[in-house]
Amino acid sequence: MILDKFKLDGKTALVTGASKGLGYAMAAALAETGANVANACIGDGENLRKAVQKIGRKYFYIKADFSNPSIASDIVEKVTNSLGEIDLLVNNAGIIRRASITEFTEKDWDDVINVNLKSVFLLSQAVAKKMLKRNCGGKIINIASLLSFQGGIRVPSYTAAKSAVMGLTKLMANELAQHNINVNAIAPGYMATDNTAALREDAKRSSEILSRIPAGKWGQPEDLMGVVVFLASEASAYVNGYTIAVDGGWLAR
Ligand code: NAD
Repeated sequence: MILDKFKLDGKTALVTGASKGLGYAMAAALAETGANVANACIGDGENLRKAVQKIGRKYFYIKADFSNPSIASDIVEKVTNSLGEIDLLVNNAGIIRRASITEFTEKDWDDVINVNLKSVFLLSQAVAKKMLKRNCGGKIINIASLLSFQGGIRVPSYTAAKSAVMGLTKLMANELAQHNINVNAIAPGYMATDNTAALREDAKRSSEILSRIPAGKWGQPEDLMGVVVFLASEASAYVNGYTIAVDGGWLAR
């Protein structure tokens, strides 16, 4: 039955930055579908612990600051030791810094590239090595952005990182698909989380954005639950290297 292919019973998922926002919703979705969940995050993981354990799944929280990307392999090791081999990796942790290109600082460039891009590569590399050794496939899901497709404004390091994430997703898929490891990405549109709080507080920017979204509303973290389960499951076995926009139609405009 096709619905059986969506089940994630007994799988181990590592979701980065899952304490709140989109990561929280995706981690909760994977747990609801059967997976045990690890959350590697700079923020507190208590709310997610309650949600995951309430439905009878195992939960592991590890404090992680991906502004130092070299922690990636140690994080993967610790998650494996606690919950078992990782079947699903969701590279979600991300930050944004806003300033015009003439004002943008080197620190804001490095911080965003380290968290949003270099850590994505090093975590994926560490997880892929283990998946290849086990020879039993797996799923890597990167969180891209509309700024993987578009230029954006006042977010140079974010656009550079998210554009690179879409490219890296294709490259990793090209090398790993033959080993039954699916690498894909999700590009959320304008979602109501802390990441976009500044935009929503700016009445002019907020109404400009809303008027351009065909669905006529901001996305909610729950809007990613279905797509992450699809990409994490056997239902997407022949989907490789693709970035799926969940954007209320923004890119179709
Ligand atoms: P958020 O700010 O609500 O959550 C970000 C999460 O990442 C938090 O759990 C935070 O603790 C964690 N995090 C931040 N810095 C970290 C670090 N240095 N090390 C470890 N964890 C860290 O933002 P969100 O909107 O949920 O964003 C999640 C992902 O989705 C990001 O990659 C973001 O770029 C992407 N995204 C968001 C939107 C949107 O509209 N909200 C759109 C496109 C893409």
